[in-house]
This record gives sequence, structure tokens and C-alpha cells, in this order.
Amino acid sequence: MLLGAIADDFTGATDLCSTLVRGGMRTVQLIGVPSPDTPAPDADAVVVALKSRTIPAGEAVAQSLAALDWLRRFGTRQVFFKYCSTFDSTDAGNIGPVADALVEALGCGFALACPAFPTNARTVYQGHLFVGSVLLNESGMEHHPLTPMTDPNLVRVLSRQTDGTVGLVPFATVVQGAGAIRKAMTALKEQGRRYAIVDAVTDADLLAIGEAAESHALITGGSGVAMGLPANFRRAGLLGTHDAADLPATPGHAAVLAGSCSRATLAQIGFAREHMPLLALDPLATPDADALVAEARNWIAGKLGRTPIAIAASATPDAVAALQAKLGRDQAGALVEDALSRIAADLVQGGVRNLVVAGGETSGAVVSRLGVHSLRIGAEIDPGVPWTYAEGSGPAMRLALKSGNFGARDFFVKAFAGLEA
Ligand code: ADP
Repeated sequence: MLLGAIADDFTGATDLCSTLVRGGMRTVQLIGVPSPDTPAPDADAVVVALKSRTIPAGEAVAQSLAALDWLRRFGTRQVFFKYCSTFDSTDAGNIGPVADALVEALGCGFALACPAFPTNARTVYQGHLFVGSVLLNESGMEHHPLTPMTDPNLVRVLSRQTDGTVGLVPFATVVQGAGAIRKAMTALKEQGRRYAIVDAVTDADLLAIGEAAESHALITGGSGVAMGLPANFRRAGLLGTHDAADLPATPGHAAVLAGSCSRATLAQIGFAREHMPLLALDPLATPDADALVAEARNWIAGKLGRTPIAIAASATPDAVAALQAKLGRDQAGALVEDALSRIAADLVQGGVRNLVVAGGETSGAVVSRLGVHSLRIGAEIDPGVPWTYAEGSGPAMRLALKSGNFGARDFFVKAFAGLEA
């Protein structure tokens, strides 16, 4: 294991995995802290996906240290702590406390911090985080319900979360390249700084920062700053020549399961309706998970094969609001998630081995119902949504877990176009 990463949420973890795969590292995402007897996957990089962004800081630290322990057991050469590109945190954490604990456990005394992700318009200049053309605290993030970001100055933000001190590697240095960045970071460490916020405005900056951090035990940041890491391992002769995105074949049936009600997913369902058999469940007319599962089971019978079928609970905002008014917001979501995850289990039981799931919460419910522990990350179908090879308590299969708003209109059709199954 060359790189061992700890991510504070699931989709962020997948994002990091895709970045590493694009760089040529075979990458596996593990769901939750691996149990001590979990063997190391055959991969160059392993990303442990936690849900630690907004839990109490003490718990986030405990889970992150447990993940670190497991990663170090397999001799990981470098550790990456992945957080959001908008530095989602509060004065109580969890970025500072988790980073502090990792710095101490690794005995490295210093780590860079760089959330920049220019592809998604997150840039850092003079330590200030911009989202597009506006500062973080004017981007809407100041109203975030759990982690309101009211200060765009990351040196100050991180300083409030740590008993260590925070310096800055400014853009004027970053633009001079890896050598200058390395020197600046060494100087800050010698001055006793525990962290350096490192400016980055373009992908070229991120590549230089990655190169400068080649010998660092710990790197912290968004998935952007991981862009430069595969090249370090390649230069050291540690990466093979394999296609990192290659996944084992999963002969079997194909299906789509949609629980997202986002605009993008609704458009994708509209498109899919023209190209594959599609069952639209109506949880408002049938607010009963058992009945929805039974309806799907009857409909599925005889339809499974290599040609994908689709089952969707997705509905327009009005219909979602109506069900929420009837059952309460949480109950409505839980009912549909329960039904869809049981339908997923039925599909697998019926021989489906290539499954696209639409919706973040829906994906969480499906993955947990199917007992999936690990996802080997393959090629992206559309930006941010890779096919993965899922293993766990059930049969190995391909899963594509799509956040509601991701993907082009033809996503559900395109997903299966390249499958050899
Ligand atoms: P996204 O990634 O678009 O946010 P999620 O799966 O995270 O999608 O969230 C969608 C939520 O809406 C889930 O809890 C899902 O169960 C719920 N849901 C799906 N269909 C309906 C519906 N017809 N009425 C009410 N809620 C629904």
C-alpha cells in the first residue's frame, strides 16, 4: 500500500479515489473503519471512507486514529486526510482535531493543508478560499446548516481548531514550483509551525504542491491536491504499468434503481424511459414499503437480463412535498430508502451484477443493505461517477453510485454501453 487515506465523507472519498485512479493508482475505497482482521486489498491506494465531518470531534478523532492504525499495519508510505474543498468545519473541528491527532500519531510535526479544487472553482489565494469569484463566506456556505463558513481566511479558521500554529505558503512562492514550495514548507516547520495553508489557483499549482510533498508523512486537503501524488510514486518506480481503472468482469443482469428526486435524475429517468423498461413507483399513492417491494417484485419477474431495466421512486418536488406532509420528512425518506434497498437485494438475488443507484442517501441505504464493504474504483461514466467493483457479504458486483445532481441526461443508458458483461 503506497497511499493510505482517511476521508471524512463517502462521496468525498470516491472523488479522491477517482483522482488517484486517473493518476494510474489502483484504488480501493473501504466503507467505515475496517475491522482489525480485514486484509489489505490488492491496491496501490486505499481510501477509508468515514462519516466524520459533523460528528463530535472526539469521535471523529477516534475513528480516524483507528483507520490510521489499520492503514499503517500494511506499511502505507504516505497518509492523506481528505476533507471538503470548502473546508467544512466549525471552531470545534473536525479538521483541526483530526489533523492534530494524525500529526501526533505519525510523529511528523507538520502537514500542509490545501482544499483547493480548481476544476470545481475552489481556489486558495493568500490563504483565502474562493468559490468561483466570491470568498467562501459569501458563497452560500455561510448559511450551511451544520458547518457555516463565515471566515474565508483558512489560516485563521484552522488556527481556531488547533493548539498548533498555522503558516502560509503564498501564491508568489507556489508559482515558482515544487522546489520553492518545498523550501517554504521546511522553513515553516523549522519555525515551529504545525500547518501550512498552501495557496493554489490552478491544477499546475496542485501538481507542484504534490511534488513538493513527496517526502511528507501526512498531507491534508481536498481531492485536488492528491493530483500530484501518483507521479511521485511513479518516479520512484513503485507503480506498475497496469490500467488502474480495470475492473474484474461481472457477468450478470443489469439494472438502475433511482431514489434521487433531483432535477438531473428526473431528466435521466425521462431519457431512460425511452430506452429501457421502467417501473415508476408511487410512494404517495402507496405509502407502504412492503407493498412497494411486492409491486416491484411482480414487475421484475421475467424482465431481468443483460438489457437493463429501471425502477424509480423519484418524483417531482410537489409529489415529494406531499408525501413529506403526510408522513413527516424523515419518515418519508426512510420509507422509500427501505423499499428501494430491499428491491436492490431482490435484484441481486435475481442475478443483477451491474447496478446503477441514483441518490446519495439512496446509495447509502443500498450499500448497507447489500453488505458492501469495499469498492474498487474503475473508470468514470460521467465526471464524479465511476463504475466500482463492490465486494462484501454478498456476491461481487459492479455498482455505480450517483449523487443526485451528477451525470448527463443519457447517464443510465451510457452506463451500460461499455460493459462487457
Ligand atoms: P440526492 O442525491 O438527489 O439528494 P438522495 O437519495 O440523497 O438523492 O435523497 C433523496 C431522498 O428522497 C431519499 O431519502 C429518498 O428515499 C427520498 N424519495 C425518493 N422518492 C421519493 C418520493 N417519491 N417521495 C418522497 N421522498 C422520496
